[in-house]
Amino acid sequence: MIHFVGAGSGAEDLITLRGARLLAEADVVIYAGSLVNPALLKNCRENCEIHDSASMTLEDVLSVMDRAEAAGQTTVRLHTGDPSVYGAIREQMDALEERGIPYDVTPGVSSFCGAAAALRAEYTLPGVSQTVIITRAEGRTPVPEREQLKKLAEHGSTMVLFLSSSLLEKAQQELMEGGYAPETPAAIVYKATWPDEQIFRCTVSTLAETARANQITKTALITIGGFLGDRYDRSLLYDPGFSHGCREASK
Ligand code: SAH
Repeated sequence: MIHFVGAGSGAEDLITLRGARLLAEADVVIYAGSLVNPALLKNCRENCEIHDSASMTLEDVLSVMDRAEAAGQTTVRLHTGDPSVYGAIREQMDALEERGIPYDVTPGVSSFCGAAAALRAEYTLPGVSQTVIITRAEGRTPVPEREQLKKLAEHGSTMVLFLSSSLLEKAQQELMEGGYAPETPAAIVYKATWPDEQIFRCTVSTLAETARANQITKTALITIGGFLGDRYDRSLLYDPGFSHGCREASK
């Protein structure tokens, strides 16, 4: 059996109870060493076989899984954040399907949630934005034409860029061409929820300069939008004048 497990965004106590239990029981662990906090591995069994996938190919990962399965062992594939976000798990799951190897998935706290917590922010502020666009700038990995930053920027929504901190010169240009005003608030969150977390608040027009000045080239999220500003409407849900399924409006 293979368990795909989300490790959470960094802090070692942000893994789910289920994830932690599976990790503690595993015979084999394959973890994404470039981003998963190694402190998570300290509860692994003493004789647990541990592989860092940073230098492995998909084929290498699958051959470890194949071998463990043939030996009747349990494998945890530990991905950073939540495995469904830029986790490259679909190709692993499809290969396991082909081989008839059973697997399941345990979600994790994605770094975009960790970043909101670090910023003490709410992405979906009433009167500001009710939409979060999660995307990346185009680098060596192509992004479909219809999802170019310039097009997504037309919505003016909250936006979170993964995998983009070394591509900010071009990204900020596209974001502004697409419709964000240059003074739109933005924040770079480096290693959200890790002990060495850092937050750099800036504007869309100063993203590249801010990253450069602070030597941020990886393990960072770029967040953009009015949710980082001061103005918003209060929620209807908790407004005394608003009735809903669980509460009558007071007069
Ligand atoms: N599955 C992961 C994302 C993997 S892609 C998740 O759900 O978070 C790797 C990218 O995620 C990094 O380049 C960076 O942009 C972002 N990232 C991962 N952990 C981060 C953290 N703790 N703080 C800021 N960004 C992070």
